[in-house]
Amino acid sequence: LRRLVVVLGDQLDAASAAFDGFDPTQDAVWMCEARAEAEYVWSHKARIALFLAAMRHFRDSLRARGWTVHYRQNRLHAATSLGEALKADIGRLRPRALCMVEAGEWRLAQALTQLAERLGLPLQLREDRHFLLPRAEFETWMQGRRQPRLEHFYRWMRQRSGVLMEDGEPAGGQWNYDHDNRESFGAEGPKGLPAAPRFPPDALTREVLDEVAQDYTAHPGSLAAFDWPVTREEALEALDHFIDKRLSGFGPWQDAIWVGEPRLWHSLLAPALNLKLLNPAEVCAAAEAAWRRGEAPLASVEGFIRQILGWREYVRGLYWHRMPAYLDDNALAADQPLPAFYWTGVTDYACLADAIGQTLQLGYAHHIQRLMVTGLFALLLGVRPRAVHEWYLAVYVDAVEWVELPNVIGMSQYADGGLMASKPYIASGKYIQRMSNACASCRYDPALATGPRACPFTTLYWDFLDRHQERFQSHPRLRPQFLNLQRKAPGEREALRREAVLLRGRLAAAAATGPAATE
Ligand code: FAD
Ligand code: SF4
Repeated sequence: LRRLVVVLGDQLDAASAAFDGFDPTQDAVWMCEARAEAEYVWSHKARIALFLAAMRHFRDSLRARGWTVHYRQNRLHAATSLGEALKADIGRLRPRALCMVEAGEWRLAQALTQLAERLGLPLQLREDRHFLLPRAEFETWMQGRRQPRLEHFYRWMRQRSGVLMEDGEPAGGQWNYDHDNRESFGAEGPKGLPAAPRFPPDALTREVLDEVAQDYTAHPGSLAAFDWPVTREEALEALDHFIDKRLSGFGPWQDAIWVGEPRLWHSLLAPALNLKLLNPAEVCAAAEAAWRRGEAPLASVEGFIRQILGWREYVRGLYWHRMPAYLDDNALAADQPLPAFYWTGVTDYACLADAIGQTLQLGYAHHIQRLMVTGLFALLLGVRPRAVHEWYLAVYVDAVEWVELPNVIGMSQYADGGLMASKPYIASGKYIQRMSNACASCRYDPALATGPRACPFTTLYWDFLDRHQERFQSHPRLRPQFLNLQRKAPGEREALRREAVLLRGRLAAAAATGPAATE
């Protein structure tokens, strides 16, 4: 065997650089379902099923090309880790070299490079062409920047790629149309919401669902609603559906939340993008083309493209820039355990019950639920960032560390001390009241910070300002919030502190019997 081409579970890209020069008479592909990867964090059953179903379909598409694929199926081998399994197969197949696209996750990149070194086997590492910006070019962009900001990065990416550009200027004359977006639904709720596309499991996926249900019984989440795209063809259908039916509404409703409506106008494309079934360039091109055809407004198209051309590439760059130290960042010295209800959804806080409930049911919550409900609550409560990270990596079908970690550590928890976000994303329950209908069905009141009906977000919001006054009070964009805090009488501030201490104590006591007990 000349070359064994290693394809990881999130590298299901038919046009991958790993296949350049592939000669089926001398080369073979190697893929592996490693139990350790499903158990590295306490993965949602749908997340495990998505990876396995997509991998098995990809294997079959390569075999249909007439290629040899050595595929280690979860149940059928003893090795638990990817490294152990690869080592055993190298011994059996005796390739003269290994070849792969650089792993997306730091931990696996280290493990595989070290394994090849130990075995004295040449390892050809190829650049991941899926991404729009090579890692080295992100590092060049970072040079000399103490505060890398998304907006600068995004404008540079627009100029570099020519996406939504006209004669060197941004299409429509502005870089950012956010002021046209960010609407809430008002009392009547979403109108004309298009049905989400369905991808009912085929026989191969049903086999995976049965295996996951039997082998990972103790893992969180449900498989009952599983209908994610698991092949390139399905992913393209999902993209077409989004461009046709939802893109126009994406901008205005990007930040809105409605109880019982988990998907709204979001694209649901992150799982297919992160498995590499879809390419970000084709996704941006499809959105831009819809605008040029006059079928979607510029504000929606620009807002959507910013997420992919901007945020997605930016967080990947920051991930590699900061790893492995990123994992341990904890700038605000947060040390509270994760509340037990994050693993069950059982809480009388209506907004959290809705966001976590749908997460456990579907493996999905949209961005503003992740940032301004579950993320905000953990930030205000002061949960240990590593525990927050492990939860997010476990429960979303689109969770892969290079995108999840910067979003959690940087954007949501401010644990990197402001590398990514210029200020912490903090708000009281009134923000949730404005952007959703959750408070209307909640027994708590977002206007109250103390007393039996106090909203925990509001209590913890004032407590956050109080606890971190020294660090943030001179931040220009937080000054108005500190002025409000300073207007409170000393007795009121003392009552707030007491309320927050009681709340933390209650949630910590419940956490002690939390995930371990449900495991
Ligand atoms: P849409 O709302 O339709 O957005 C379109 C696409 O833009 C997404 O599919 C995604 O590829 C990209 N995108 C949007 N926002 C971001 C962002 N902040 N960073 C990177 N890409 C972005 N995204 C993941 O793909 N995996 C994760 O594990 C993940 N964890 C997150 C954790 C937290 C705390 C937060 C605040 C955000 C996280 N995100 C993650 C980003 C974002 O919330 C999801 O990409 C999005 O909700 C996925 O749903 P969608 O495909 O319907 O996205
Ligand atoms: Fe959430 Fe507070 Fe509103 Fe209840 S009152 S839904 S806890 S923000």
